Amino acid sequence: MSDVTFLCVQEPAQFIAGQWQTGEGGDPLVDVNPFDQSEVARLAPLSREQLDHAIESTARGRDVMRSMPPSERSRLLRDAADWLEARQEAFLTLSAMEAGSSRLKATFELGAAISELREAASFPGRMHGTLVPSSVPGKQSRVVREPMGALAVISPFNFPLNLSMRSVAAMLATGNSVLLKPDQRTYLTGGLLLAEMFQAVGLPADALNVVVGDAKMIGAAMTSHPVFAGVSFTGSTGVGQYIGIECARHFKKSSLELAGNNPMLVLSDADVEAAADAAVFGSLLHQGQICMSTNRVLVSRSLYEDVVTALEQRVRSIKAGNPLEDGVILGPLIDRRQADAAKQRIDSSVSQGARLICGGEQDGNLITPALLVDVKPEMPAAKEEMFGPCVTVLPFEDDDAVLAAANVEGGALSASVFTRRERGPIEQMLQAGMIHFNDQGVNDEPQTLFTGLGASGMGQHNGHWGLNAWTRERWISDQGDA
Ligand code: NAD
Repeated sequence: MSDVTFLCVQEPAQFIAGQWQTGEGGDPLVDVNPFDQSEVARLAPLSREQLDHAIESTARGRDVMRSMPPSERSRLLRDAADWLEARQEAFLTLSAMEAGSSRLKATFELGAAISELREAASFPGRMHGTLVPSSVPGKQSRVVREPMGALAVISPFNFPLNLSMRSVAAMLATGNSVLLKPDQRTYLTGGLLLAEMFQAVGLPADALNVVVGDAKMIGAAMTSHPVFAGVSFTGSTGVGQYIGIECARHFKKSSLELAGNNPMLVLSDADVEAAADAAVFGSLLHQGQICMSTNRVLVSRSLYEDVVTALEQRVRSIKAGNPLEDGVILGPLIDRRQADAAKQRIDSSVSQGARLICGGEQDGNLITPALLVDVKPEMPAAKEEMFGPCVTVLPFEDDDAVLAAANVEGGALSASVFTRRERGPIEQMLQAGMIHFNDQGVNDEPQTLFTGLGASGMGQHNGHWGLNAWTRERWISDQGDA
């Protein structure tokens, strides 16, 4: 393991029943720095038997969490936020090494995770029930809100800390126990770090288990084992659909946050400079590997040349390389498969007539920031989720043509619109879970709703939507004693 004094335990291991245990499931999983392929950590994966132990522990955790006073749950979350905040520099280094995160992205991710913890710290005091008037004289009628019990979380590689945290924090805050499975490529910042943090602030054993190993084995147990009341999944649409179907088959709740083909609309009355800033940030932050990344910039013809010029100035100024070096804003993609797939989307779009103004050169997992213009809706760069560092620009005759092309099959997670026009008709027409006017599409605030639409997902996170997501309501009526 590297010599960085980092946040995670000395020897990365499975976190089961409050203990760090060496995995017994076969050859080690090596956590590789995506920039230079150096080893960041290695850990033996969990065995089937260890998974059973983790599930038994999470089952015991239901009682642990249910009996914990709300004030103590809040304290744990507040202390966890402080713990993380005090380790900012170590996190930025680790995130660069493990996930290829630039300082900018890792700072954004850490800030989001800390805010999620602080927001969730308010949940225990907000789990209100309701007294409901009854038509029957003398009958008391109330609806109570309570934890769901034991829950499971599956998180992706791109914002591992933040996307594990937003579910785990809300679940623990509302009195549930949790089994977390991070992505195999980012198990430090997406998994073990959360275990270390919650252990440090005094979360009791069994409340949180963190396991790393065979995704199919763990996923199958999470979706079928009777202990779990629900699964939070964040990742690709295909795997999410499978998880959702399996949860339904076993009468479990599922929250699915999936992929989006997110548009940015630049209408003829837009502020070109502001739109260009937002397009570059939204398309290139973390090499475009964000579910909310801007996948298509749709521009009205009258502004097209101006927008392309403004984009070119910005894209050319972005330094790509090792995210640990000063000034680097764009790091490597997570692995060779993702890098090759993004490069392929750029190249096939060029062979179909798109113009590559700059960037798009691949060296291993690194792709220099690309500006691809004159793209048509049917080209791979526009049709598929790029998940790579490319600003993809499509010209349209006029505003009506931009609006007509904005929606694609499956819907978007996040859309952004640059215009001064009336908002109502645009928001009714746009198929996206989140719409931002005159702002970037990559947008997240812990107190407001995060959600998809259609194939981009059907979960709800943050604020009281996060509180409701992992609690259930029951009706209790009482006629009094005879
Ligand atoms: P992925 O679906 O391959 O992996 C996500 C997680 O699912 C990982 O932990 C992985 O190990 C696990 N997994 C894979 N197969 C599984 C199985 N059969 N059973 C159980 N778990 C399984 O996703 P990816 O390609 O690594 O991540 C990128 C995708 O995630 C993109 O499409 C992106 O848009 C999406 N995403 C969505 C959001 C959101 O909030 N909507 C956020 C981030 C990423």
